[in-house]
Amino acid sequence: MSQNHDVRKIGLGVSPGICSGRAVVLADESSDQGGRQDGFGGEPVILVGYDFSGEDVLSMDLDTVGGFVTAAGGVTAPGGIVAQAAGIPAVMGCPLGDAVKTGDHLIIDGTSGEVHINPSPEVIEWVNQRRSQYRSCQAEMAGHLHLPAETRDGWKVDVVANVDLADAIPGAITGGAGGIGLFRSEFYYLTGDGAPSEEFLFTLYQHVLSSVSPLPVTIRTLDLSGGSQVQGLGQTLEQNPALGLKGIRLSLAHPALFKTQLRALYRAAVFGRLRIVLPMVSSLDELRLAKGIIAEIKIELGHEGVRIGDDVEIGLMLEVPAAVVVADHLAREVDFFSIGINDLLQYTLALDRVNGRVADLYEPLDPAVMRMIHQVVQAGHGVGIDVGICGEMAGNPAYAPLLLGLGLDFLSMPVTSIGGVKQMVRESSLEDCSGLADSLLQHYSAQAARGCLQDYLAAHHPHMDQPPSVMECHGRA
Ligand code: PEP
Ligand code: MG
Repeated sequence: MSQNHDVRKIGLGVSPGICSGRAVVLADESSDQGGRQDGFGGEPVILVGYDFSGEDVLSMDLDTVGGFVTAAGGVTAPGGIVAQAAGIPAVMGCPLGDAVKTGDHLIIDGTSGEVHINPSPEVIEWVNQRRSQYRSCQAEMAGHLHLPAETRDGWKVDVVANVDLADAIPGAITGGAGGIGLFRSEFYYLTGDGAPSEEFLFTLYQHVLSSVSPLPVTIRTLDLSGGSQVQGLGQTLEQNPALGLKGIRLSLAHPALFKTQLRALYRAAVFGRLRIVLPMVSSLDELRLAKGIIAEIKIELGHEGVRIGDDVEIGLMLEVPAAVVVADHLAREVDFFSIGINDLLQYTLALDRVNGRVADLYEPLDPAVMRMIHQVVQAGHGVGIDVGICGEMAGNPAYAPLLLGLGLDFLSMPVTSIGGVKQMVRESSLEDCSGLADSLLQHYSAQAARGCLQDYLAAHHPHMDQPPSVMECHGRA
């Protein structure tokens, strides 16, 4: 145990909740947890490492690990997104260096980003108060889980869930989701020996679709970057994976891989309501190439006499600025749009989403971003298709009035955000939300827009006492 007492550090709260436990410090630059997750007499382990990817978090033993802290990582780093899905608090972008040793008592707050090392009795008491406050907020939000997301003046928005694993689906539906708005399919490609077979994927998707039916499930086709390697695919390590062979580009470069996934999806579509969403599309040509491959596999399956779903909807993730600029053209050739705001922010503001050093510049209220959301909604509604948003902003209750006012039809979010967002929607009126969106669209400065949103929240939702920030995903702990 270190000599440090009552040290407080601040990082990015990326997965809400408070955890008190014992530190297990992993070697620098390593995420290898091999055999080091043993409990401390029943106390939760808080892993302290350089960085944890989504796969690292999935492989944590949640019977012993109660939370984690990393030195690296940004506001919407995949490790934080998976931590939210797993329901464990996490703080990223918080280098603790020598301040912490294995066995130290740690308290982490995954909402505010605070990390307390060997806290004093006063701090423990204060944190306990916060924890009970957090729990009562959770209990209050839980009361809204199964009520419709409908404003006071009768406007309904679909509140749906982001999930990474099929195991999370029952919890999403009992947790109040009106369907699955984003099923990220990557993890099944990274955890086995290479890409999964058509039969494996068919069984998986059949299970997912039938368990959620008659509610819709939006499954995203493979969205891997060069930073995540699928065994046997021969990917090369890229210098800049975020700008590399990522998302739909990877699928188009490996048509056999893409076809396997599409065949499984269309076969499984017989068992429920399937919407397929294509990630990282940047142009109409790319969309048409992808749709060409979809048409091919439908013909192939037809020739083989295999039954396929006949009402599958095809949508686009709007997350590359180029796609936003030509959204009016893209809208005519798809059934829905889903704004991937995590990546749209990354590419619009040129901010690496996994780099904590630029996390404070990550600003959803940037006027360029506001205009883009508005433009996508106009383009989609202009031809009568649904436009929704997925990504962390959608799960922050503080942004719900703005997103309603901007005209989004669905909000897809981590399951843990559903109660808070529904509560916010139910306390809002569409008229006020539209006024808010109109005035935010007039601002040339993100700071002014943030001030305007804060004034709105103070006037209309005084219980929401914290300034909205993507880092405070739930804004209320
Ligand atoms: C996004 O980019 O907003 C999104 C939802 O997808 P991911 O976080 O998986 O990139
Ligand atoms: Mg994305």
